[in-house]
Amino acid sequence: MKIVKILNKKILINVFFILFLILNLSFLIIFQKIKTLNVTKNTVKTKKITNIKENFGATEESSSKNGYDAMEIWERLSKNNHTPLEYKTGENKKTIFLTFDDGPSINTIEILEILKRYDVKATFFCIGSKLNNKFNSSLFKKEFTEGHAIGNHSYTHEYSYIYPNNSINIKSFTEEFNKADEQMKKILGKNFKTRLFRCPGGSMSRNGVSELKKHLKNNNMALIDWNVDSCDKRIKKSQKKRNKIFKKIINSSKNKDMIVLLMHDSKREKETVKILPDVIEYFKSKDFTFKILV
Ligand SMILES: [Zn+2]
Repeated sequence: MKIVKILNKKILINVFFILFLILNLSFLIIFQKIKTLNVTKNTVKTKKITNIKENFGATEESSSKNGYDAMEIWERLSKNNHTPLEYKTGENKKTIFLTFDDGPSINTIEILEILKRYDVKATFFCIGSKLNNKFNSSLFKKEFTEGHAIGNHSYTHEYSYIYPNNSINIKSFTEEFNKADEQMKKILGKNFKTRLFRCPGGSMSRNGVSELKKHLKNNNMALIDWNVDSCDKRIKKSQKKRNKIFKKIINSSKNKDMIVLLMHDSKREKETVKILPDVIEYFKSKDFTFKILV
């Protein structure tokens, strides 16, 4: 009887020990799973970055394949010259530059997927302060490694910092540009340099722009506004917003064979993402070539 009791006790201890082990193992598996999920949530797979030359806002490969001289586009925009672009091959081609401001954002992945599906490259004017977290940094890196061009869209995007008294001066510009540039270099490496700058809200309504223009030209940098505004930020949210954006783009692009199209890559502008395939298909059907600014 005593032996049976001792045996029972031993079995009980063993059962408890095994249960304890199973419990620990399950905790370990669950913990690992959560860790993996978090990593996928916070980072996006990107290619390795190699060989960036100065003044390439895009990879060298994409720059030579899809790039068009930003200085010439700046000049054309300021002269309202929307005629087809002349290519090195001697051809004249209707050309569109898709540009996305204010990113990276929660919509960036979807925008990149659409661009990939249509094999089209775009120019992203990014805000430096948005590149402070891991997730946005990996989106930014993905934009670059997938052959899109990067432009500087200030660090804060705060009008009161960038345009004290509604005027832009070299000091405020330099501060904002450099801070954003530093952030970009942290992600893409010290050799990364973009020569594209887009003023938050555009340069047209600011005082002191002529001084800025001179400064940029002297430093071989380009100030890029747009000649077609999708108005995705201004059109109020409604069921018809998507159609309104599309109509706006079509109407403002009439009689233009060189288009710099302004759109936004920001959390609120979900409709821009939804209408993007239609926009690309429309311009493809009109024989436009898609280029990036470099
Ligand atoms: Zn902006």
